[in-house]
Amino acid sequence: MACSRCVRFCDEVSKTGELRLMNRGDHTTIDTFAGRELDNAYSVNTVDICPVGALTSRDFRFQARAWFLRDSESVCPGCATGCNIDVSVYDQVELSDYNGQAYRIRPRENDAVNKSWMCDAGRDVYTRINSNRIDQPFAHGIEVSWDGAISRAHKLLHGATEIPGSVVGVLGFDCTNEEAYLFARMMREVFGTSQVALLASRPLQQGDDLLIDADPHANRRGVEAVIGDAAVGDVAEYLKGAQGVIVLGADPRHYMHASAIRDAFSGIKQQVVFSATVTEATEGAAIVLPTSSFLEKEGTWINRDGRIQRLFRGSRGHGESREDVVALAAFAQAFVETWTERSAIDAFDELVADHQGPFGGLTYDAIGKLGVETQTAASSTDVLKGATS
Ligand code: SF4
Repeated sequence: MACSRCVRFCDEVSKTGELRLMNRGDHTTIDTFAGRELDNAYSVNTVDICPVGALTSRDFRFQARAWFLRDSESVCPGCATGCNIDVSVYDQVELSDYNGQAYRIRPRENDAVNKSWMCDAGRDVYTRINSNRIDQPFAHGIEVSWDGAISRAHKLLHGATEIPGSVVGVLGFDCTNEEAYLFARMMREVFGTSQVALLASRPLQQGDDLLIDADPHANRRGVEAVIGDAAVGDVAEYLKGAQGVIVLGADPRHYMHASAIRDAFSGIKQQVVFSATVTEATEGAAIVLPTSSFLEKEGTWINRDGRIQRLFRGSRGHGESREDVVALAAFAQAFVETWTERSAIDAFDELVADHQGPFGGLTYDAIGKLGVETQTAASSTDVLKGATS
């Protein structure tokens, strides 16, 4: 069979033209020109569109029985485009060692975002679900229970809560809108700190004209919209002299940040870090609280075009990790007993009530599986589409 869909994909979508129908009649084969390989940033889409399974993905081949996998709808966290995806998760009770592991990512059709395509790099983000995860809370490098970690954090920070603003907060651009909202609210209501530092987790990358955005974060636009004027301008100055710091989904020790930021962060004695994966910040923190990957929680992200899209909980968490909104509530309750735990959906409703401008009139149900447009302002990197640094 030589339907030539893969040839047309390379000619018309990736516009790289590596594949050709070679020879004639019953000798026809699909091949590359001599000396060329099928090597473009979107090459695995040819596997998705091959109707007979003649093309297979080297990464997924022989890794799992496809009929043991369950597809879960989600959004790619690989860049600000927010391609719609299906994540295939192992889902067999009797094979519990592998349960919850993600094995592959394929594009989910959404004409307003990614049509039926995604980039090859985006297919690798399933490793963020499986690898480098933190399974257990830590206090001073020792594994402890959640209760133990939180009561230790309370002891470390309780004194500082007497002085409003002495505990500062750092938030990453991969957090959901609901997490950003609850984090800012916790900093304000529990620690008396009205501002929050926003930090990138990865350097800008090479974007293109098809899907890949220069901004490698899933929700910069959403986090900026939620935090608004409460975002600090000079992060190093904000961190300098603080008695304690709470970090959610960011890594202030990452080499990409200016040394002034890294030094100011390192100078803070009491560090509490919420993170799904091991980072340089978790390595040095007094308290580490394990949170969820993008597949283990509900929430919303806003992509580069201002489209709000939902994450769906498609897998149980790793080890003792908790959904970020649940972890934040448990932490806040140690300081303010009346702080209520909210689901992501409840937090979204409160967010909409508080931010009528950008989120006005939105409901969680209306966002559905394909997302809707918001009135959020363009994020600070929109002008950098296609930038290299
Ligand atoms: S273009 Fe961006 S959002 Fe889309 S699949 Fe690639 S990394 Fe993910």
